Amino acid sequence: MGKKQAVLIVVKPDGISKGLLPQIFTRLNEAGLELVAARVLQVPRVLAAEHYKHIRGKPFYETTIRHLLGVYYKNKKILAMVYCGAGAVRKCRGLAGATNPEGADPDSIRGAYGCVSSAGVFENVIHVSSDKKEAEREIKLWFSPEEISENLYKIKAKILKSTKKQVWA
Ligand code: ADP
Repeated sequence: MGKKQAVLIVVKPDGISKGLLPQIFTRLNEAGLELVAARVLQVPRVLAAEHYKHIRGKPFYETTIRHLLGVYYKNKKILAMVYCGAGAVRKCRGLAGATNPEGADPDSIRGAYGCVSSAGVFENVIHVSSDKKEAEREIKLWFSPEEISENLYKIKAKILKSTKKQVWA
């Protein structure tokens, strides 16, 4: 277990709206990393709140949550992915660039494609886990074990009774 280093990448609604998936995939591919999970979804508020619990109480907390929920965009969906490989966290943080797109390296994803809105929202295109521990917490939050094509972390079998699940009709 824990053989491969993994990182959570979320292409935020601004990244999807601006049609940036090809550029982002190209950069991740060129970094020699392997895609092992992906989900397209509109983020429920409870998931956004758990994901961003470390910034709760900050003045930009609410707008950051609203940004991830897609409130500011016609497209409200995101693409959540798990990438694996040596130095995955460091490499992807480097590709993403600094948190504030206006201060980010122009060669980075945030520096090249991000902006700060007139309301002060960091439209920074992409989320990347900040370290290995956060990556594990976030990957377990966004994905179930069967949605990931690698055994990244310890799993256990559990019989869930009376759990409502959608199946093909
Ligand atoms: P990162 O996403 O680079 O790991 P943080 O974890 O510090 O950065 O912040 C989480 C998110 O909160 C950022 O991606 C950004 O959307 C938002 N954010 C952080 N700092 C600010 C700020 N000073 N003003 C506006 N939004 C911010």
